[in-house]
Amino acid sequence: MINVTQPLLPPLEEYLPYLEEIWKNRWVTNNGPFHHALETELCKYLGVRHLSLFSNGTTALLTALQTLRISGEVITTPYSFVATSNALIWNKLKPVFVDIDPVTLNMDPERIEAAITPNTSAILPVHCYGTPCNIREIHNIANTHGLKVIYDAAHAFGVQDHGKSILLHGDLSVLSFHATKVFNTFEGGAIVCRDATTKKRIDSLKNFGFVNEVTVTAPGINGKMSEINAAFGMLQLKHIDEAIECRRRIASRYKEELNGLPGVSYLPRSESVTENHAYFPVFIKPNFPLTRDQLYHRFRERDILVRRYFYPLISEFSIYKGLPSSARANLPIATRASREVLCLPIHPALGEEDVSLVIDTIKTAGEIR
Ligand SMILES: *Cc1c(COP(=O)(O)O)cnc(C)c1O
Repeated sequence: MINVTQPLLPPLEEYLPYLEEIWKNRWVTNNGPFHHALETELCKYLGVRHLSLFSNGTTALLTALQTLRISGEVITTPYSFVATSNALIWNKLKPVFVDIDPVTLNMDPERIEAAITPNTSAILPVHCYGTPCNIREIHNIANTHGLKVIYDAAHAFGVQDHGKSILLHGDLSVLSFHATKVFNTFEGGAIVCRDATTKKRIDSLKNFGFVNEVTVTAPGINGKMSEINAAFGMLQLKHIDEAIECRRRIASRYKEELNGLPGVSYLPRSESVTENHAYFPVFIKPNFPLTRDQLYHRFRERDILVRRYFYPLISEFSIYKGLPSSARANLPIATRASREVLCLPIHPALGEEDVSLVIDTIKTAGEIR
């Protein structure tokens, strides 16, 4: 079985000393030594000033919206994992979907501007597949209209533009360290923020709203990362560069082999961007001999678990379908992308032969007339 992804797990014996340390400390959660160390080391690694760890990315998203006291309508993308919009509903906010750019698959800034109403308070874009959003345009729109920007950066661990972290943009950026992501702590996440005061508010919100032993100033949640997860994160960090390098090699092999294949395209990447190779989406166009779904089943027959991320669109789930902005006519580019996309297997444990098998499956299917 070839999976689309596989969690990065360093050798178990490397993890044992961390566990011994936890057993010795008897400090298992609530801002323990590994929690503290991981926040410090992640700030260094990512090139950001302030970061608060969470038990998962979804709780981090929920808390990010609470941190900035977002209300009313939030403009977001339908082309993402459902957690992006679910976080809005849990905060009693109204998602307003706008279409994506056909090249980057990120929110189209012109569509954002057109969707603003007096009730709009924020924009929630996603750096989809780790491709940076049009940060400058989004910043300008937010500034002009007095809106907050929270980036769902779940795909964007370590991504840089012109050598600078893309997590430095917007008011907040939210990361996920779920097992399927480039950097994982089994379950985990983080909010990146711009100043110490905001970090203090986030730290309080993720700890039930406590600001000291006897004072609660907001209806906080329990979003704390445990020492087990934080310690694993410290170990992960030692292996992350090597893991991303493995991913890079697989991605360049896919590009080389699929380049020019009729009916198959992949994302163009900008020269200035340092990628993390979290995903390798390909687009199966109408001139390919098989439909996307036929090719998907062809892969399945060979025990290769490619994924149709992001199909269906968030706006197509029954809970979102009724929103005016979910109308298919409002989202033609996102709809087309979700009908054409297949994410190919990419992870550090994927062997050369596995990659060859994936490529062969596409090429063989491409020859049938
Ligand atoms: C994975 C993911 C999330 C959710 O993160 P969890 O850590 O699994 O809660 C949110 N948004 C996007 C775009 C994701 O890919």
